[in-house]
Amino acid sequence: MYIAGEWCFAESGATFPTIDPNTGREIARIPRGSASDVARAVEAAAGAARDWQFTDAIARAALLRRLSQLVSANTADLAELEAVDSGHYLSKARDLVTAIPLWLEYWSGMADKVNGRTITVPGEKMSLTVLEPLGVTAHIVPWNYPLLVMVRSIAPALALGNTCVVKPAEDTSLSALKFAELVEQAGFPPGVFNVVTGMGAEAGAALASNPKVRGITFTGSTETGRTVAKLASEHIAQLNLELGGKSPLIVLPDARLDDAVEGAIQGFCSHAGQVCVAGSRLLLHEAIADEFLNRLEARLKDTRIGDGFDKATQMGPVVSQKQYDRIMSYIEIGRQEAELRIGGGRPANVGPDGYYIEPTVFDNVSPRARIATEEIFGPVTAVIRWNDVDELLKLANDSDFGLFSVIWTESITKALNIARRLETGSVIINDWFGELPMTPHGGTKQSGLGREEGFEAVHGYTQVKHIGINLEERLTTNWADAPL
Ligand code: NAD
Repeated sequence: MYIAGEWCFAESGATFPTIDPNTGREIARIPRGSASDVARAVEAAAGAARDWQFTDAIARAALLRRLSQLVSANTADLAELEAVDSGHYLSKARDLVTAIPLWLEYWSGMADKVNGRTITVPGEKMSLTVLEPLGVTAHIVPWNYPLLVMVRSIAPALALGNTCVVKPAEDTSLSALKFAELVEQAGFPPGVFNVVTGMGAEAGAALASNPKVRGITFTGSTETGRTVAKLASEHIAQLNLELGGKSPLIVLPDARLDDAVEGAIQGFCSHAGQVCVAGSRLLLHEAIADEFLNRLEARLKDTRIGDGFDKATQMGPVVSQKQYDRIMSYIEIGRQEAELRIGGGRPANVGPDGYYIEPTVFDNVSPRARIATEEIFGPVTAVIRWNDVDELLKLANDSDFGLFSVIWTESITKALNIARRLETGSVIINDWFGELPMTPHGGTKQSGLGREEGFEAVHGYTQVKHIGINLEERLTTNWADAPL
């Protein structure tokens, strides 16, 4: 682990295994950090916080740029770690890692451009605001996009003068540890960036409940998000919650069907469906539903599923035995609740090892079925048919989640009318999701609080200080006449 600029084991000496999902084999052992390791990391971050806050923003930006160059120079290593740990197939992992410098550069550019404002007030007075860092920020990361999800929150945190303690997911700690090596090489002062590996209920909970942690960015399931929010409430830490989804992918009768099919496959098969914004509810207009599903089935026949290190692979394994069993149990539930149209098992071309699952489509799913309402987090989608836009909107919004939605239509008027009525943090028209540092990402309802990315993320990593100044030569009111 990386604490206070030093490499260390857990104080207890405990470790846990990390498994390659492509083969099911153990590839490394990771320190199992506990509350005492977390306390040391938070102390280190708290000790470094004041100097880092008052380091010139231009100097903080320069360090982030140096880090960005080091990430670029280490793309191959980071991509292999992401592939062997999280199950991204290698060429996709390379694309993902190649994009990471965008986030570091966007926020290094922002470091000296985030300012407060001056406010007009009555009388001989001036008021202004200063945006200040929170201090120590905690970053609790899931296993599906370990490096990207960590970088998208630590980049603004560091740029805006906060110090960081990262807790990677127990299944995928390797890229965060490699990244810490690059932070060290870039020359960040000790304590500014720390990584504690370990279990969620131990290291994660200790981090979320540490009273010196002033801001928490948690990305993960809604269920764990609730626990983290409770822990944060004990010491009133600021919270960003980036949680789960059950996103509708809506196809109108006038849509370009082949493009919509392509988008739908990306929506539920990208990273084997382990994507927060996965299009796991396919809302098809009745007039095109059968034709759409025929084309979807034909296109899915070409999908090459297998080991992420095989060049031909387009869809790798799911991350762990636990996830594999969970997704398979939802497929069983789906068989009871709806009509299995495509897939539904282990692909015929893979051997007995590794956690591979076929793209699976259920048709004629009732809107309140479990497979239509619960996040499965695997390559499974539920087709729900509709006839008019009012019915469509009811179906789309009938969800506890509100992360993301997609609309396919050639009518921009219809698209914008529907977009304005969807209860989700993002709506994409005629495209699939491409995460970028410039555009805000986050959910409504039980999909989260706050926004990552875009200028909106500034609010998650700063607090407002108001400074009021009386410009009178001497006070013109005595204390008893003062308004408050
Ligand atoms: P998870 O909730 O199981 O774990 C996320 C992180 O929380 C891990 O680091 C884990 O160790 C930690 N954790 C677990 N218990 C904890 C506790 N009691 N206290 C503190 N930390 C604890 O999620 P996951 O299975 O790793 O990730 C999948 C979930 O993440 C899905 O629901 C997905 O939708 C969501 N996700 C959301 C976004 C987004 O931007 N909205 C992005 C990626 C993933």
